[in-house]
Amino acid sequence: MKNRMLVSGTLITVLLVSLMLWAINAPDWFLKTLGIDNPTLWQLLVSTLITICFAAYSLFLYRLNRRLEDKIHQLGDSEAKLQKLSSAVTNSGSSIIITNRQGIIEYVNHKFTLVSGYESDEIVGQTLEILNPQHAPDIGADNLWSQSYLQPSWEGKLFSVRKDGHEFWSAITVSAVRNKSGQVTNYVVAAVDITELTEANRKMQQLALFDSLTGLANRRLFMDRLNNALASCRRERSSLALLFLDLDQFKRINDTLGHDAGDILLLTIADRLKGCVREKDTVSRLGGDEFTVLLTDVKDTYSVTHVAQQILKALKQPIKLHKHEVIVSTSIGITLAPADSSHAETLMKNADLALYRAKECGRDRYHFFTEELNIQALKHLVLEQELRSAHRDDEFTLAFQPQVDLRTESVISVEALLRWNHPQRGLVSPDDFITVAEETGLIIPIGRWVLRNACMQVKMIHELTGHQIKVAVNLSTRQFRDPRLEQIISEVLVESGLSPEFLELEVTESMLMDDIDKVIEQLTRIKSTGVTITIDDFGSGYSSLSYLKRLPVDILKVDRQFVQDIPDDISDMEITSAVIAVAHKLNLKVIAEGVEDIDQRDFLVINKCDFAQGYYYSKPLTFEQLYQYLQNGKLRAIA
Ligand code: C2E
Ligand code: MG
Ligand code: MG
Repeated sequence: MKNRMLVSGTLITVLLVSLMLWAINAPDWFLKTLGIDNPTLWQLLVSTLITICFAAYSLFLYRLNRRLEDKIHQLGDSEAKLQKLSSAVTNSGSSIIITNRQGIIEYVNHKFTLVSGYESDEIVGQTLEILNPQHAPDIGADNLWSQSYLQPSWEGKLFSVRKDGHEFWSAITVSAVRNKSGQVTNYVVAAVDITELTEANRKMQQLALFDSLTGLANRRLFMDRLNNALASCRRERSSLALLFLDLDQFKRINDTLGHDAGDILLLTIADRLKGCVREKDTVSRLGGDEFTVLLTDVKDTYSVTHVAQQILKALKQPIKLHKHEVIVSTSIGITLAPADSSHAETLMKNADLALYRAKECGRDRYHFFTEELNIQALKHLVLEQELRSAHRDDEFTLAFQPQVDLRTESVISVEALLRWNHPQRGLVSPDDFITVAEETGLIIPIGRWVLRNACMQVKMIHELTGHQIKVAVNLSTRQFRDPRLEQIISEVLVESGLSPEFLELEVTESMLMDDIDKVIEQLTRIKSTGVTITIDDFGSGYSSLSYLKRLPVDILKVDRQFVQDIPDDISDMEITSAVIAVAHKLNLKVIAEGVEDIDQRDFLVINKCDFAQGYYYSKPLTFEQLYQYLQNGKLRAIA
């Protein structure tokens, strides 16, 4: 093109120059014919005219050249663009398939061959069905299933099969290619392998709905199933039963045999539970050793009782845990819908109350929910609210019961006992509210109040009477497990000005059974500050003497039940004297509680018990009574 332009341009230029030269030197006859007399003027006119023509021609040529260059540039750009596009498609990280309008594959890129395992020439000419022979949704015999997504624009997830038979998930985007008249000529299918993502999602869903250890439904799935079952109960006027289960000795097995053994135990229990119910019933693990069973389409109470009995029996079969064989019993709480309630939350609460009652009745049994349990729970709720306001309104006081040295018969300490001065009910015994305070966590602020007031009041007794007596404060399980306990003790001692050797803490055996090493560390730290540790109600729990040897305690307080039948019950007397002897061997002091008469006192003196506490010496006293009691030096001042 450029060459042609060059040749024609040169010819035109030669022609113009020749014409100009001829016109300038035009022969006279020519000038005469034109009637021109002045040849110089003619030459000037002609050369000006020819110069203008030249200029116009050059401009024309220049413009033409520019347009040509632009065209060439544009062509070059489109070619580069096409090349870029083609290389982008070829090397794309996504699989790209181009089909014709009918869905016949015309092109696949390199990634596609890698992912699918098909070579390009094996697949070109095929339909997309080759990628999913079995999973094609049934959209009619005449239709290719790929037509369900070969649409002008489509996005979704497809299940596909590699050439070697492996299955994988792809996220697919389909877009149509149209010609100038708007008709679809091709489809471009871009696919990304999302198998790993889909698998991760599936695992997450599994984690969200199933217990990771046993594979049973977790609380979320269980609640979902319960709600669905309740809906069908309403529709079909049927009944369901909800069973709450709690293993009776799980914690102990877990602590003594280790968590691996605990896991095997839970897996075995899960299997046995599944074996006791029908396929359509749901067994779930709510956490720890808490399981639930949902029985649907329940015909009568008898069938529920039957399942509960079967569960009790199945779970009681011995379980092999490494070298050990253990037998676990279970407590079961049962509630029925719609008889007890038609609300999931209420049913869960009912079953829990019934379970609690089954445990109270001695474990290894089932208990149905009753309205009476509900009334009791409501009473607890009222008590909880009253306890909260009691703490706020300063309705608590302390009573002090003297503890006497049996050799000298002098008061060496007092036990601080909590009293609740209820505005309507008068004095309420701690036995009636400590459990609720413990369950609700209110024992933490109340316990701190007791500790603080006990230390302050005994410090005051020191100052008022000169009697340097100790004060024993009862700790509850929750307080003992409170990580702030040690800090609270030291703050209270500083605040009250009481020296640590005048503070004694009473803990019970059950508190010490948990994690023995941790308990030993904690007690050792408390003891190192100078505070005395006493095991209260000794003999009523499960303490083994081997435990006792390791525990850094100072005093054993023999439980009242052993003292009360002295001198009538020979075995109680033997236990008491044996405890005293063993305690002395372990360098511990012994105090007997609940001493009510002189025979009991004499028995304790003969058996070399160190201290005694009980009505024989004094009932619990108010601060003023204690002051009087110590001032008078009277030992048997029954209040
Ligand atoms: P405990 O620590 O074993 O306290 C001894 C209980 O026996 C006291 O009952 C006391 O009044 C009673 N008692 C003392 N001598 C005799 C006697 O000769 N005969 C009879 N029958 N009983 C006697 P109380 O004050 O009703 O306390 C009951 C339980 O409440 C206590 O048993 C203790 O476990 C708990 N408790 C009391 N105060 C507190 C406290 O401040 N914190 C905590 N966590 N528990 C407390
Ligand atoms: Mg006590
Ligand atoms: Mg006691």
